[in-house]
Amino acid sequence: MTAWRAQPGLKVAIDGPSGSGKGTVAQRVADMLGLPVLDTGLLYRLTGYLMIRQGLTADDEAAVAKLAESMLGDVVWNRQGICYRGQWLNDELRGEDTGSAASQVAAMPQVRQYLLSLQQQAAADGCVMDGRDIGTVVLPHARAKFFLTASQRERARRRWTQLQQAGRNVDIEQIHAEIKMRDQRDAARKYAPLKPAADAIVIDSTTMRIDQVVDRIIAVMARRHLIEAIT
Ligand code: C5P
Repeated sequence: MTAWRAQPGLKVAIDGPSGSGKGTVAQRVADMLGLPVLDTGLLYRLTGYLMIRQGLTADDEAAVAKLAESMLGDVVWNRQGICYRGQWLNDELRGEDTGSAASQVAAMPQVRQYLLSLQQQAAADGCVMDGRDIGTVVLPHARAKFFLTASQRERARRRWTQLQQAGRNVDIEQIHAEIKMRDQRDAARKYAPLKPAADAIVIDSTTMRIDQVVDRIIAVMARRHLIEAIT
């Protein structure tokens, strides 16, 4: 297998809807290049999770924004995941209920604003960052931008498999409906909607394997001399 070296400070933005494979792809690309990987969805998921836990609803935007602001001092967010008040959270944040709450808080401009500088600081020395608005808003000057997509049905199937493997017994039709709703909310929102940056390369992975997507991304970056093979 070829080893690769990234240009110092290289920032790679990987955006896409739920189930597009961006998390797994980002992780693999980061491993191949020796860069940290940062999953921005975790920030919105944590905000949504805390909203539910604190008995708040998305109707009370001011309270949720305050929650997001106060949360920042208690968060460690890095390649290992997200830690809140000394506790690493993972499974707690992975359910579709948290995903749905995340997409509600993600439509709030103030919440996005609070989370923006944290993301920009974390990316400063180079990373692979995945999310919805990385190429458009968080890292508009990133030199490598990819937008992954896949059919809704295929994305629902992937999410369902993931949840099954994590021991959650879920109905695929329900997952499909939730993904559909989340897509609509993420794409229709006024602030930082889900859309490819004008200079992003769009990859439809419906019929591709993860390794094929990764190879494509690596090939694009090599062609642009953003990474080089180490012999
Ligand atoms: O990627 P993931 O499914 O973990 O994201 C959960 C939700 O967080 C998304 O549906 C989206 O509404 C929101 N999000 C966002 N911007 C990001 C990352 C996630 O709006 N950069």
